[in-house]
Amino acid sequence: MTPEEMDTDEYMRTERASSIPKRRVAQGWHWCDDWDDMLVGPGMLALVGCTCRRPVLDVEKERMQARFDKYNAEEQKEILK
Ligand SMILES: [Zn+2]
Repeated sequence: MTPEEMDTDEYMRTERASSIPKRRVAQGWHWCDDWDDMLVGPGMLALVGCTCRRPVLDVEKERMQARFDKYNAEEQKEILK
């Protein structure tokens, strides 16, 4: 967990409040069109399918894609065993 990731309580509070705190928007948190307006941000695998264009998201998308690829590679290993 990085400092950019929200804890569950903050996530739930934000979802209920509908508005995202400015410092969280700056970190890349947004209501994502690609996920039916789900709250998406750093540390979430949902970023792999997110096509929203925000400079702050580029690094985070790469990080999550790498995590996703690693997960897939491990799954493949399990299946091929
Ligand atoms: Zn998005």
